[in-house]
Amino acid sequence: MKQIKLKGKAIFDGHRFLGPDKVLILDENGVVTGISDDQQAGEDVIFHDGILIPGFVNTHCHLELSHMKNVIPEKTGLPTFLTTVMKQRNTNADQQETAMEQAAEAMWNAGISAIGDISNGPATIAHKKNSKIYFHTFVECMGVADAGAESRYQYSMDVLRQFETLNGAMHSSSIVPHAPYSVSKTLFDKIANTPDNTPFSIHNQETAAENELYATKTGGFLDFYNTFGMDASGFQPTGTGSLEAYLPYFHLHKIILVHNTFSTATDVQFARQQSANIWWCLCPQANLYIENKLPDINLLREMNCQISIGTDSLASNHQLSVWEEIKTIRRHFPEIPLEELLQWGTSNGAEALGIAGTYGSFQPGARPGVVLIHNDMISRLI
Ligand SMILES: [Zn+2]
Repeated sequence: MKQIKLKGKAIFDGHRFLGPDKVLILDENGVVTGISDDQQAGEDVIFHDGILIPGFVNTHCHLELSHMKNVIPEKTGLPTFLTTVMKQRNTNADQQETAMEQAAEAMWNAGISAIGDISNGPATIAHKKNSKIYFHTFVECMGVADAGAESRYQYSMDVLRQFETLNGAMHSSSIVPHAPYSVSKTLFDKIANTPDNTPFSIHNQETAAENELYATKTGGFLDFYNTFGMDASGFQPTGTGSLEAYLPYFHLHKIILVHNTFSTATDVQFARQQSANIWWCLCPQANLYIENKLPDINLLREMNCQISIGTDSLASNHQLSVWEEIKTIRRHFPEIPLEELLQWGTSNGAEALGIAGTYGSFQPGARPGVVLIHNDMISRLI
């Protein structure tokens, strides 16, 4: 079988930089067979002027919102953002399909090999059937009124079953809660008790209004509920931040917490007691787009949180690129080593999605794709 031998100025293997004297060896299908020393690599080594890394893993995206690029105004805060999205998300299916195709192709070209993708309905099924990108679908469930919990749950389980049988084979998918402000107690309970359902994911502490709702049942979400006639009369404030109120439903489970813009040291400590398998997914460009605020990333690092990176959707971002998210973090937190940021964007994401055997690193047997970083630009080699 023909071998592909690649060398760069450096190789990042998903965990660390290996330096310039190594050669990445893959078979003709892109499966990694090993990393060898220069002298032992033999003939036909192709040199690329840049850093070779495994394909990125994007742990939070909404492909189904791709047609909403440049539709929603920036920096309005989350409650207003959501109101605008919900009023404007319906569109014709052809336009949505085309936008999803273009967005997925752009993600592939931006070096993304695997995606954890939020789906409210079945709109992305046709696309995912033929994609060269790996998808785990998070079927997102929401419902503020407790009385509607059963029907909301059944609708999402129906959608989940449609994804599970994609391609006649099992498609990786799980049912997940949308956010602490949009899921009732009964619905949280139903979702958390769904058997064989992993990983969980939730939009967490994306806005100060979310913590305010749980602390005192005041703030921007009450207007949001009113606008859409949602019955939040059964919601009882807990006097705590949102995370402390809902995370016990997912005790000992694997869960990806997305955004964390308003998470504190108390939240992180509390989360630790609930599960060892918590992932803190950062989507900094969406945070700047919606709330114009970034999470306390240094706090998450100091407290040894497991961090991954997501792009969110084109409703709240100008492009879907893990590398652009990393560049944004570097601009605001220049002290974070590139090695650590690349780990968040590759092997950590793969572990969060449960696909580390195939994606996110150059370990033998993996097929993660190969991406080149040259002058801060990305190009996909494999
Ligand atoms: Zn999101």
